[in-house]
Amino acid sequence: MKVFKFGGASVKDATGVRNVAKVISRFPDDDLLIVVSAMGKTTNALEALVWDWLAGRPTDDRLSRLAGFHLSVLKEVVPEDRAAFDDLAGCIEELEQLFSRAPTVSEDQAYDQVVSFGEVMSTLIVSAHLRSVLLSNEWMDARTVVRTDGLHRAARVDWEACERTVAERLRPLMAKNPIRIVTQGFIGCTADGRTTTLGREGSDFSAAIFAYLLDAESVTIWKDVPGMFNADPKLFPDTKLLAHISYREAIELSYFGASVIHPRTLQPLQRKHIPLYVRSFADLDAPGSTIDARSENDSLLPSFIIKPQQLLISITPRDLSFIVEENLSGIFALFAQRNVRIDLMQNSALAFSVVVDDTPRSRQLIEELSAGYEVRYNDGCELLTVRHYDEPTLARLTGGKEILLEQRSRTTARFVLKQQAEG
Ligand code: ASP
Ligand code: MG
Repeated sequence: MKVFKFGGASVKDATGVRNVAKVISRFPDDDLLIVVSAMGKTTNALEALVWDWLAGRPTDDRLSRLAGFHLSVLKEVVPEDRAAFDDLAGCIEELEQLFSRAPTVSEDQAYDQVVSFGEVMSTLIVSAHLRSVLLSNEWMDARTVVRTDGLHRAARVDWEACERTVAERLRPLMAKNPIRIVTQGFIGCTADGRTTTLGREGSDFSAAIFAYLLDAESVTIWKDVPGMFNADPKLFPDTKLLAHISYREAIELSYFGASVIHPRTLQPLQRKHIPLYVRSFADLDAPGSTIDARSENDSLLPSFIIKPQQLLISITPRDLSFIVEENLSGIFALFAQRNVRIDLMQNSALAFSVVVDDTPRSRQLIEELSAGYEVRYNDGCELLTVRHYDEPTLARLTGGKEILLEQRSRTTARFVLKQQAEG
């Protein structure tokens, strides 16, 4: 069994959906589990709908645009499939019904209820299209398999429960030969039947969950870029493909902010030694990137990642006493409670410095910390991380910029830089 994942960009319109079939048709004899995201920017549109609904604003226009878009794509890719039209119309009707009443559940639960429709609709369309071009397949509701806790919008997988649901629900589907299953990323379900989501961009993780549970031979993420690069090709002109790196390296890169793979995706794969391929859906002959247990190529190229919009916060006890473990544990507890992720930290005798995303939550946290500490901060910073650095690369990337903080280990150099005003 191979697991394929197609993200929103790969199914953003009818051409994208047809292209999925083109990719699948290259694997006629393989058992496939195909994980599909919501189409294009659908998740954002559904989010906007949730906010409207929760605020009591009208939802009709936005919903009818979303419905029109999905129906028109379906019509383009499967001209005659009454059942598929009924299924899709059923989704739209469910959303209409939902919005016709005031929400009765928590905001986060309401979010999951609504946003999950993006994945359901896209998979109905993809599954129907594949059938229409004679790529037989089973549409599966991922919620029958992916069991999670009830932490809405950031649900955590209950792996033991999933082992059971796989045996009960998924294995029986797999009797056919070859078998193709089309299912959703991003969504799951609690034991008592509430829809959950795994966090934005969570479909990569879903692919890894299925691969782990099924002992898949590999996972392939089909993307609009031909693999993982040593830097974001949108920001740098001279990026190079990372043809092969280890799980560990990929985990580090995604932790530091490389956005090609969702950070949580790699751990389940690493545990079962399932290789991950990142390949281009637009160039099926391009080899892409391979991520597996072998690390011999990790240090061939320096990789660099820039996180913009960072705050550099420095925290000092008001009485100029030393920063000691006691202070630190209180400070960490506050970051954890407020769910603000620390991207980098450094301490001296008198000050503890951290770098975090500049968000309203972080600003709020600064206020709270100011009750007990003298807190100073720099906004408009960027965090540059360079793995496997060499001096010429560092000089090139930091040249002419004001360095506010610098940190180096044997493999990784990190800089907090004053962000340059856009010209
Ligand atoms: N559709 C969800 C999102 O846009 C999940 C995903 O695409 O991975 O965040
Ligand atoms: Mg996506």
